[in-house]
Amino acid sequence: MAGRIFVISAPSGAGKSTLCNFLIKEINDLSFSVSYTTREPRKGEVEGHDYFFTDKKIFETWIKEERFVEYAFVHGNYYGTSKDYLEKSVKQGKNILLEIDVQGARQIREKFSDAVLIFINPPSFDELRKRLVGRGTDSEEIIKQRLEAAENEMSASKFFDYIIVNDDFGKASKELKKLIEKNIN
Ligand code: ADP
Ligand code: 5GP
Repeated sequence: MAGRIFVISAPSGAGKSTLCNFLIKEINDLSFSVSYTTREPRKGEVEGHDYFFTDKKIFETWIKEERFVEYAFVHGNYYGTSKDYLEKSVKQGKNILLEIDVQGARQIREKFSDAVLIFINPPSFDELRKRLVGRGTDSEEIIKQRLEAAENEMSASKFFDYIIVNDDFGKASKELKKLIEKNIN
């Protein structure tokens, strides 16, 4: 049987990376799709684990060569998912977790009608700001840009299958785990 794709999207700072790390540790039958990006690595990020870091010229060549199953320009950088990796994994029966933005989620929905789309909301805008500042990885300018994008991203969540609020981490992670286990092939 083919594997299933799970997409997690959220405004920056809502906690999606933390939740995805939890899910990969907790669910044996779930693999993480490492995206390609032109963004600079943050302190502590590891090539091939968090992202494959590349430059704009290479990324644009790969767009032309149709090597991405989905890609988007988000907060000033390109991000994309390898077509080869995703198609092969699904064919082999692997369940794959994609942590991508709302534009990418829409592209995945068009290509894989049985993908499960989950949107993570922060409990409030204030809390979102606190988390972005508290994470300590981005400049004030970048935080401002990401908060400005958050409202649009949240209003684009309408086409998602499920919405989970990440207020209490224990509660949200448990709910998300249950939801994925219920839908896994
Ligand atoms: P994203 O991947 O959505 O940008 P992160 O996973 O990096 O967000 O989380 C942003 C910050 O918020 C991190 O410092 C993380 O530890 C923290 N965080 C995540 N979930 C919660 C939560 N439920 N309550 C409080 N802080 C959280
Ligand atoms: P960050 O820079 O915080 O790691 O990610 C910024 C945004 O890009 C987040 O919304 C994240 O989900 C999204 N993103 C990460 N990888 C991909 C990808 O492969 N495709 C798309 N469309 N978005 C991605």
